[in-house]
Amino acid sequence: MSRSTLETQFSYEELAEMNKKYIWHPFTQMKDYLEDNPVIIAEGKGRKLIDVNGNEYWDGVSSIWLNVHGHNIEELNEAIKQQLGKVAHSTLLGMANVPAILLAEKVVALMPKGLTKVFYSDSGATSVEIAIKMAFQYWQHRGKTGKKQFITMKEAYHGDTIGAVSVGAIDLFHKAYSSLLFECIKMPYPTTYRSPYGIKKSVIVNESLKELEKLLSERSDEIAALIIEPIVQGASGIIVMPEGYLRGVRELCTTYDVLMIADEVATGFGRTGKMFACEHEQVTPDILTAGKGLTGGYLPVAITVATDEIYKGFLGDYEEQKTFFHGHSYTGNPLGCAVAIANLELMEKRNLVKEVELLSDYLADRLTGFSQLAHVGDIRQKGFMIGIELVRDPGNAEPFDWKERIGVKVCRRAKELGMLLRPLGNVIVFMPPLAASKEELDVMLDILYLSISEVTEKS
Ligand SMILES: *Cc1c(COP(=O)(O)O)cnc(C)c1O
Repeated sequence: MSRSTLETQFSYEELAEMNKKYIWHPFTQMKDYLEDNPVIIAEGKGRKLIDVNGNEYWDGVSSIWLNVHGHNIEELNEAIKQQLGKVAHSTLLGMANVPAILLAEKVVALMPKGLTKVFYSDSGATSVEIAIKMAFQYWQHRGKTGKKQFITMKEAYHGDTIGAVSVGAIDLFHKAYSSLLFECIKMPYPTTYRSPYGIKKSVIVNESLKELEKLLSERSDEIAALIIEPIVQGASGIIVMPEGYLRGVRELCTTYDVLMIADEVATGFGRTGKMFACEHEQVTPDILTAGKGLTGGYLPVAITVATDEIYKGFLGDYEEQKTFFHGHSYTGNPLGCAVAIANLELMEKRNLVKEVELLSDYLADRLTGFSQLAHVGDIRQKGFMIGIELVRDPGNAEPFDWKERIGVKVCRRAKELGMLLRPLGNVIVFMPPLAASKEELDVMLDILYLSISEVTEKS
């Protein structure tokens, strides 16, 4: 592999200086960042990223939950080059392009049965905005004009645009914007750690569903849709819901005529050991959003997939103005769609989703070893989504004070040991690329274990 021009033209120090001078980083307190020596990535190779100084790191969070096969993958590179030789972009407003059509067909074939119409956009947040607007307008067209509200889950995360933040519920991220947002009804996500309903999963499920049914039975005339991260609530700390809850939600939404939106931006495309997390409970939502892994972590393409029923709600004579008035400049981008097709084909060829399912059992096995560490409170896992919650005292689940930045410290140590991670508060997130082999997972888990034990057992 040839060294990139960037590396030969500029030293690390020069790049670091320009980085600090010109870039405002997302979800980053820049004051802290300016004091630190940042990693500057120059290349990727398989499950590793390589910085401009030649240091190699395991990509332990799949570049924030996106990566599937790894970096610099021949088949994916080739798909982009092929498409680039044809056309990089043309609009989807009133026209079509070849990769967007072929990808939509492929996606529908993979979807839970009944989801048939693909609406493209370019990030998870936009896919959620689209789902919200679709659900809202659907009821307007159906003449049930009172159905305007949304139910969301406490601690939910659906992206950072204003609509997506409105259906979000993580105070730390969302509180500052509260006066800009539309109000939602917030229901508790059925956690099993520190649950008010005790530790028995069936009780937690039943009580949580009862609470939801009470709300729906009283107010379903006002409610357009319920939005939920199915099976795993991601950004709140990798919370895995107990079995039976998602199916229960689906049944209640059907009974009370409320649309169900499943946000599979994080869980979709194999991450939990099924192609979509909804499959764990044989659920078909009315609208499903996905993004992150769709292009294998290569380019920004996201999708909002609806049932025929929703789609037909928008059909009408031109004068009726039932058009779905939404679109983005790069909607259906051909380069992105081409690499998404290549990603899905490679997943099929390698039987990757099955592979993730099999390796999750191995991961679960190895993770039990972490529970002996003095400050590990809870270990949560579904497929290749893992969250390890660090606590001051596992005996009573007493959290570490957030000011201790225990998660940040563990991840800093992991970086020194050769793996890039990013915590969610006191939860250490481990989300390896889906194609990571057993041997690769072993090395990554060793670093994870060492980082946690070194940092927490001396503090
Ligand atoms: C990451 C995420 C989003 C937002 O996706 P972006 O591409 O970052 O806008 C939305 N929903 C869930 C569940 C996510 O994990």
